[in-house]
Amino acid sequence: MAFRLGNLDGRAVLIDGENWHDLAAASNGSFSGDPMEAVHRHAELHTIQLNSRSPEGAVASAVFGPPVPCPRSVFAIGLNYAGHAGEADMDLPESPLVFTKFPSCLAGATDNVELNSDFADYEAELVVVIGTAGRSISPNNAWNHVMGLTVGQDISDRALQFAAKPPHFDLGKSRDTYGPCGPAVVSTDLIAEPSDLRITCDINGERRQSGNTGQLIFDVPTLISYLSEILTLEVGDLIFTGTPAGIGASSGEFLAAGDVIETSIEGLGKLRNVCI
Ligand code: ZN
Repeated sequence: MAFRLGNLDGRAVLIDGENWHDLAAASNGSFSGDPMEAVHRHAELHTIQLNSRSPEGAVASAVFGPPVPCPRSVFAIGLNYAGHAGEADMDLPESPLVFTKFPSCLAGATDNVELNSDFADYEAELVVVIGTAGRSISPNNAWNHVMGLTVGQDISDRALQFAAKPPHFDLGKSRDTYGPCGPAVVSTDLIAEPSDLRITCDINGERRQSGNTGQLIFDVPTLISYLSEILTLEVGDLIFTGTPAGIGASSGEFLAAGDVIETSIEGLGKLRNVCI
């Protein structure tokens, strides 16, 4: 069966509707419960049957950590929606604009975002989880290297990002807690059309971003092909694919303590992060 893989207190869980199942228990001990082991053995997750067992808990009361807690690399793509490139007053890139979010910035679906600046910004993003390592992956074969998709927030400290010239995107987007993602990795067979998913970001209930993954300038297969021509993509690597228009920097409305960031992607779920 298809799966939704989550991370609950450092243990891998499978989400089934309103409930979650402990992976180690559901697999009769075949899996250790380590979320990274579950990512590496994702093909086997499809064979685990949940129908006949009672779940360990309810999703509503669960506090999920990042579903891939220790990726080797976290790539992110800048200016990958035309509307966003326009509001940033930047020319459309001719090849993907790639930077790093250091994996230490990852946070869970309901974790607090710890602000360090008056210029923290939100960016709702589709996140790709690599499931099969590879080099020189062709666009036609790219989806075969994807384990699943999840929701991400590329929180950005604009002051830090543009403090250096040329800008250092990596640091400005890698403060602790600046990478919420989750709540689960959704296997690709649960997603009918990954290039037609509604993506939104609300701040305190006000809609700030509304886009569709079909608007990506460089789509998922192109990004995987491009990156894998340069380096080997490893199992568990994450790719934040870029954000649609509506970021705080374009309106001057940056994040403040107490703000509630809600980030949703159709079919993948929702993040709800409070700024402190
Ligand atoms: Zn971004």
